[in-house]
Amino acid sequence: MRILVADCEQEISSFNPVPSDIGYFSIKRGEEIFRDRGLNTQMGGALSVFDADTSIEVVPTVSARGPSAGILEKKSWKKISSEILSSIEKSAKGIDGIYFAMHGAMGAEGELDPEGYLLQEVRRIVGEKMPLVISLDLHGIMTERMLRHIDGVTIYHTYPHVDFADTGARGARMLLRIIREKLNPVIARVVIPALVRGDELVTKSGCYGDILREARRLENEGKAMFAGVMIGNPFTDVPELCSQAIVVAEKDGAFAEKAAIDFAGRFWPNRHRMQGKLIPLDAAIAQARHMQGPVIFTDAADATSSGATGDSNVIMAALMKAKYPGRVLVPIVDPPAAAAAKKAGIGARITVNLGGALDKRFTPLKVAGTVDMLSGGHMRLETARAPFEGGDTAVLISGNYTILIFSKPAYFFDRAPFLSHGRNPRDYDLIVVKSPHCEYHMFEEWAEKNFNIDAPGATSADIKALGHTICARPMYPLDPDIGFKPKAVRFHTKRR
Ligand SMILES: [Zn+2]
Repeated sequence: MRILVADCEQEISSFNPVPSDIGYFSIKRGEEIFRDRGLNTQMGGALSVFDADTSIEVVPTVSARGPSAGILEKKSWKKISSEILSSIEKSAKGIDGIYFAMHGAMGAEGELDPEGYLLQEVRRIVGEKMPLVISLDLHGIMTERMLRHIDGVTIYHTYPHVDFADTGARGARMLLRIIREKLNPVIARVVIPALVRGDELVTKSGCYGDILREARRLENEGKAMFAGVMIGNPFTDVPELCSQAIVVAEKDGAFAEKAAIDFAGRFWPNRHRMQGKLIPLDAAIAQARHMQGPVIFTDAADATSSGATGDSNVIMAALMKAKYPGRVLVPIVDPPAAAAAKKAGIGARITVNLGGALDKRFTPLKVAGTVDMLSGGHMRLETARAPFEGGDTAVLISGNYTILIFSKPAYFFDRAPFLSHGRNPRDYDLIVVKSPHCEYHMFEEWAEKNFNIDAPGATSADIKALGHTICARPMYPLDPDIGFKPKAVRFHTKRR
């Protein structure tokens, strides 16, 4: 059996003013894709299933993965999509099925449904009868066009995400079942007009997790091939942005519809709870002064992993202005400052402007300090162990501040940026974390308090403040509360 595999993943924030381009992407061609073996990535998980079966030959094509960022620039999207599609076209002869790893929250200039376009074009190449399964991030936006072209889907069941490989493996197993048992699954989907954020989305502790555990139960009991609720990425302002319940059943469409309606009915009443609860910055600083710490200042509004620039200096500026006396650890993306530190060299005393280099809503802040360390910014995620790049990086010591200056929007959803540069967050009194939620053990387990700071930025948890102009309306919480009657729509490929 020959299984073709492909991968195209990025998540964008429409409110990040800097478009991303092909240079942001890590592109693997042909057998380079096998480097994902053993990694906690969707492809890594799928390969583990295919590799375990000696009757399967994996046909690798292209894997293009970009970090979360601003909208993908038009020419780059054309290059990436045409390379993936022409590789699939060249390799599609004699294959028995396709596994395609995706994120689901891509957006490109001139194409606000990139995943839908890719799947539509793949169908054009391989025809309607070829089994095709995708896997997605629960922050993805499944569009109608995507649903029309797939036979099945698996989606993360955890947030913060830890089940990348598991989701890929479930997708691979679903594909093999579809091929071997000649299944024609039916997919039921209920669109939920709500955008959500906040601590209740943490699946271990929040009410969203209760819903996903019920979904897993249906899968584990064999009632559904997949069940889940996607919450979309509230920052990806595209026409079909929404939350949605999705159930894949072997053949029982009525069951899939009923289950999807049931999940939407569990989700909707909790929409008010699933909103960001933020504290004003000044109030948090005033409280932190009187705390033993360590304390975390979560700057979700500037979360690079959600698509922000990472160059907000708002929290650092306020701490400096308030003369907060503790030891502060803070990351920032600032390519010119990182370059200036590299040029000056280790031990040099420099004065740089920090912040606002990319997102002009932030006013640059003059900071003097000593360059303590320089690196090329090569890091590995704590959980997934996948490599990621911060570009030229400098550690600047300025009084009680240790500032990590990156030149690329590195991932800040774990401690890798700190630990890779010899800084253990536990050694500080106040740590700025530019991620909405990190895994519990990384910060919250040992911190006295994690403050969700109300700060401006392209990925603010204050969804109403972001300025959506494209997504369908009405949409909670952008519009006054609306009525909602869950309605299921069935999808299946023409093989049926
Ligand atoms: Zn996600």
